[in-house]
Amino acid sequence: MNDKVVCRECSGLFSNMTTHLIKVHGMSKRDYLMKYPGEKVESDSFIKKQSMRMKKQYSRTDFNYRSIAGSRTFDFIENKDLRILLQRDYKSAKICLKSTLWKPAIILYGSIIEAILREKTQTKDFISAIEKAYKNRLISETEYHKIYLIKDFRNLVHIHKELQENIEINDSWAKTLYDICESIIRKFRG
Ligand SMILES: [Zn+2]
Repeated sequence: MNDKVVCRECSGLFSNMTTHLIKVHGMSKRDYLMKYPGEKVESDSFIKKQSMRMKKQYSRTDFNYRSIAGSRTFDFIENKDLRILLQRDYKSAKICLKSTLWKPAIILYGSIIEAILREKTQTKDFISAIEKAYKNRLISETEYHKIYLIKDFRNLVHIHKELQENIEINDSWAKTLYDICESIIRKFRG
């Protein structure tokens, strides 16, 4: 298996010389192979790497589709792409909660709550979404106050934010966000 192929025009070494051929010699891959039949324009290791990358990409897609199939949790979300992302993050959030990974659980649940409320109120930011959701009785007064309290928790993804705010990351916040999220989902599904 070779790592490089030699350009017969200039003796340069390349793992993939397609771009080189066009840029330096003004030849397409096809022109080159017509002139030098049986030569290679891509090294074996390049081909192998590329096929591995493709395989990975495809299996990742398969996995996503498999994991969302059959789940109806977010049926109330009309935007199909958003529904898929919500489903994915909701699964991740649950795993974090079960594994006592409080910080990612808090961030994920916060983002899920924001996405649902924004979609259902057709607003472009979280605060407008909270206000409108409360006004339209999509959330209760208690939930309204709780969501206000936790609305900046998504920003804990920035570690400096966590440092400044001096917020204690713990299970009780994670569970609070989980409860709010579940209650919102129940409301929209029911
Ligand atoms: Zn060359």
